[in-house]
Amino acid sequence: MRPIPAKSFSSPEPMRNPRLLLIAAAFAASACAHTLAAPVTTPPVQPSPDGTSGFSAANPFYAASTLQYQAPPFDKIRDADFQPALEAGMRQQLSEIESVANHKDAPTFENTIVAMESTGVLLTRVYKVFNAITAANTDSTLQRIQEDEAPKLAAHTDAIYLNDRLFRRVKTIYDGRVTLGLNPEQEFLTELYYKNFVRAGAQLAEADKTRLRALNQEESKLTTDFQNRLLAATKGGALIVDDPKLLDGLSEGDISAAADAAKARGLTGKWVLRLQNTTQQPAQASLKNRSVRERLFIASTTRTEHGDSADTRDLVKRLAQLRADRAKLLGFPTFSAYALDNQMAKTPDAASKLLTDLVPAATARARYEAAQMQKLIDSQKGGFKLAPWDWQYYAEQVRKAQYALDESQIKPYFEIDNVLRNGVFFAANKLYGLTFRERKDIPVYHPDVRVFEVFDADGKSMALFYADYFKRDEKSGGAWMDSFVDQSRLYGTKPVVFNVANFTKPAAGQPALLSHNDVTTMFHEFGHALHGMFSNVQYPLLSGTNVPRDFVEFPSQFNEHWALDPTVFANYAKHYSTGQPMPQALVDKIKKSKTFNQGFATTEYLAASLLDIAWHTLPPGTPQQDVDAFEATALKRYNIAMPEIPPRYRSTYFAHIWPGGYASSYYAYLWSEVLDDDAYQWFVEHGGLKRQNGQRFRDMVLSRGGTQEVASLYRAFRGRDPNVEALLIERGLKDVPQDPMGKKQ
Ligand SMILES: [Zn+2]
Repeated sequence: MRPIPAKSFSSPEPMRNPRLLLIAAAFAASACAHTLAAPVTTPPVQPSPDGTSGFSAANPFYAASTLQYQAPPFDKIRDADFQPALEAGMRQQLSEIESVANHKDAPTFENTIVAMESTGVLLTRVYKVFNAITAANTDSTLQRIQEDEAPKLAAHTDAIYLNDRLFRRVKTIYDGRVTLGLNPEQEFLTELYYKNFVRAGAQLAEADKTRLRALNQEESKLTTDFQNRLLAATKGGALIVDDPKLLDGLSEGDISAAADAAKARGLTGKWVLRLQNTTQQPAQASLKNRSVRERLFIASTTRTEHGDSADTRDLVKRLAQLRADRAKLLGFPTFSAYALDNQMAKTPDAASKLLTDLVPAATARARYEAAQMQKLIDSQKGGFKLAPWDWQYYAEQVRKAQYALDESQIKPYFEIDNVLRNGVFFAANKLYGLTFRERKDIPVYHPDVRVFEVFDADGKSMALFYADYFKRDEKSGGAWMDSFVDQSRLYGTKPVVFNVANFTKPAAGQPALLSHNDVTTMFHEFGHALHGMFSNVQYPLLSGTNVPRDFVEFPSQFNEHWALDPTVFANYAKHYSTGQPMPQALVDKIKKSKTFNQGFATTEYLAASLLDIAWHTLPPGTPQQDVDAFEATALKRYNIAMPEIPPRYRSTYFAHIWPGGYASSYYAYLWSEVLDDDAYQWFVEHGGLKRQNGQRFRDMVLSRGGTQEVASLYRAFRGRDPNVEALLIERGLKDVPQDPMGKKQ
């Protein structure tokens, strides 16, 4: 029995790429299902009470897929198949759970914990596909189903976790766990079950359980609304221009992609700049026209505040209040305290400390960067003060001046297929011995999706990997990884995982050339994929990326380091038309500019993280807050209010924390970064890109899933606890240069 992951949002980052696994996030708000593998027959589905379920053997989810590793049969799946399968899946799991709860024998690990691990096969099968498609390729039918089903899934989870007979059986095993002769994985699984039940409210009195159920219902509705409103707002917020001169500065490829985007919306003869998830928009680095930059910035930052049907402010206000109330009911002073209790950080104080300790160095460096840009503006007789919509543009100019580095010089060396096969896959081969073969015969949900079979070092087939890299209007913003099937030895399932991103799709016939950020994103998401594919655990609940949120970004951010490894880089950074390697001078420039603009990147990330903590440490009973005023006050309180650097996500489009599973956990990226920089340092100390190093990392970290406390797992790998030293050096925050204007920071 595993929690159904909710949506995963994230975005390509100057500051590392968030990717959201919603695992166990708001546990009570996620449904409970799990992967029973390739069972020969599907357990009987209980008939629907009204007899109109319409779920029969004709439904492609009825039985386990017969495709390799139970890959979803996308050639057969239609929108209309999801709802009956979801509902049948819930009915089936509830009846299975009832049998476990009412078992006539005294509770044992097998008849209770393992039995629960065996429930919800059908629900998991359909939900995982539904979850993937509604994030990556949604439509109005799927959105309506999502709105219908989200509260039902929340009620379903509650029906399991608030089942008192079931909880008493779990508690009996938990209380006796030391004397039952369990192995460490079984003992850890038992503890996790017990804690999950308690965190979901199993110990509450009946009246409080009723109140909790109502809050969970409401939250699931609000978060689904948020996701769908944000998608509409992001699409509707795109900047439309009718004169290509206004796009002066963008590459020819970007301009024709903008024309294609307009065509796709029936706006032939116009140009559309789609919004990215983040506050800052990539096009701002190149757009020469200052007022167009300003328009794009305003479109981005106000996308969800137009007072129309896509406005999210009422959702934000109510969600913050509701979560505080839920935490109180469960015995915690704030939602943050509740959310972090089962994380590596443990407390909001520990998480905030990591963030606030970095604020002085980050803002000092950001002010230094701002002063450099102001000097440039003044020297060009600009006659204006640096505004947030100018930052990317002048940063790019400073970059060109100081490092003579221009994104358009780099891109031709980052053709997507080359980066994937000769970069991402190549590094995985050098470190872990993996090889890959494209499979055109496995059905996909959109023609852009590619499938690869993955082979282990001994040549044995081990997993399927799907890649869906290009931006579409039907796709949520950002980049993420998730799975269709989780690895589990109990059921003999092999991993079927996928990566999704939002890289600009080239105009027809043109090569897909990536930015350096995109390349980093690709390595990042593939790091999550490795975590899923190397999983070697018995129980589904502990499989792969089912680890605390502040640990889950560790394998992905760790994998980013290989993008710039000299051997790996030389293997993929080749000109798309000439095949020539990137000239060494240009490589050196990229390396030299690594800490460039890190004051900005760190500051906008810290601002968003602290905003997240501010919302989620509101005491229960606080009246609803005015969103904009709350945001301004919080940033000031944390000494991170810089008018030129708004938070990476403003509250009203912060998908990580409202629908996403990163509520009170956006700090997790930085927390994981401490680990990934420190772990990479271990590789540096031991000869870098070597098979034996990769094998050790795989054995001690990547294959372990959530089978033990992550702090002890890390300590075993590193030989000590992590420290922040390597991160400070990587981000260039060790020695902040003097402000050129002479101001003391
Ligand atoms: Zn990630």
